[in-house]
Amino acid sequence: MRVTDAPWIRAARGALLLGDDGRARPTIFAEMSALAAATGALNLGQGFPDEDGPAEVLEEARAAIASGINQYPPGLGMPVLREAVSSHQSRFYGLEVDPDREVLVTAGATEALAATLLAFVDRGDEVVTLEPVYDSYAAVIALAAGRHVPVPLTAPDFRADPDALRAAVTDRTRIILLNSPHNPTGAMLDPAFLDLAIELAHRHDALVVTDEVYEHLVFDGRRHVPAATRPGAHGRVISISSAGKTFSTTGWKIGWITAAPELRDAVLAVKQFLTYVNGAPFQPAVARGLALPDSYFLDAASTLQHKRDLLSDGLRAAGFTVSRPSGSYFVIADAAPLGITDAERFCRLLPELAGVVGVPLTAFVHPDRRAPYRSSVRFAFCKRVEVLEEAARRLADATL
Ligand SMILES: *Cc1c(COP(=O)(O)O)cnc(C)c1O
Repeated sequence: MRVTDAPWIRAARGALLLGDDGRARPTIFAEMSALAAATGALNLGQGFPDEDGPAEVLEEARAAIASGINQYPPGLGMPVLREAVSSHQSRFYGLEVDPDREVLVTAGATEALAATLLAFVDRGDEVVTLEPVYDSYAAVIALAAGRHVPVPLTAPDFRADPDALRAAVTDRTRIILLNSPHNPTGAMLDPAFLDLAIELAHRHDALVVTDEVYEHLVFDGRRHVPAATRPGAHGRVISISSAGKTFSTTGWKIGWITAAPELRDAVLAVKQFLTYVNGAPFQPAVARGLALPDSYFLDAASTLQHKRDLLSDGLRAAGFTVSRPSGSYFVIADAAPLGITDAERFCRLLPELAGVVGVPLTAFVHPDRRAPYRSSVRFAFCKRVEVLEEAARRLADATL
């Protein structure tokens, strides 16, 4: 057998992760980060914070290591973290979640998504997602031999269109996979859209899976509404979140799902043979984080909102048309007013022109559907204020 005939390699090639020669394509993120390193440009391409999160949380992890919490934790996750997830869902959303039967700790939201899709998607089953789409979704759908059906989000506000969702969901749909606040656009889904997704899931015997990793990073006084709080959600909705974005600990890879027991158990059946468990000393630390007072969560959001405004002002001064994200780490800047028609080319030149790195929005869109996104760039604002001020200055001074 030729290695390039292996089913996973074939699937990955279908998802455009591999070239026709079967070799891994360097992602645009890796290419842009290398460019930032080579040119000394400010890297606003990748979405990770450049500052540490809350000191109590970091200290709890150190203390856990020192006290010998260094072996395999329980397969469901440590009780202290499952209880903290349950209390968090109750405190912020009024949801009752049984820590023993309805919570599963995972290796980040990434594993939660992978295990959920592998658990439920059979060959040829359809998975509906918003598009532009977080890159791991398309990859895992392909690995599960599912079919990816997009619901497009378009400028200026990237709002999800209920009619597009109605058109996308059919009896072939197995999962409606939603992400709010949304990476890469920063858009948030309103409760009516969530209600429609749940209604369609009932009608077509599908599941709603929600990626809520930016649940606390919302702006302008808005509140995140989990689909799990909406009518008809019980037994239809699998909620996924993670500590990485909320506590600026993206390298810890502690995530979780909450779902009705039979759904949780189906995901567990896959998850236990992917990683089995991970991150023992980080689990009590994340539990500590989830129990921080409301002020922590509010401050994190308002600090990030200020950063959004700082970078957005710089981009506007440089001549971009700038979106107004309601949440997440990201802003979309359309370079069309600068005469740019090819953001991929533009992003390769931007480090030289302005000393700043962004990622073309087309990186999050299937090649057949990229036309509406050709001139747009995603910039991350989860960086130190000094970095964003410098980026804004460079952009405003640049001739683009
Ligand atoms: C960062 C991110 C993830 C991955 O979360 P991890 O906990 O690091 O695995 C998943 N979904 C979205 C939309 C993200 O932006």
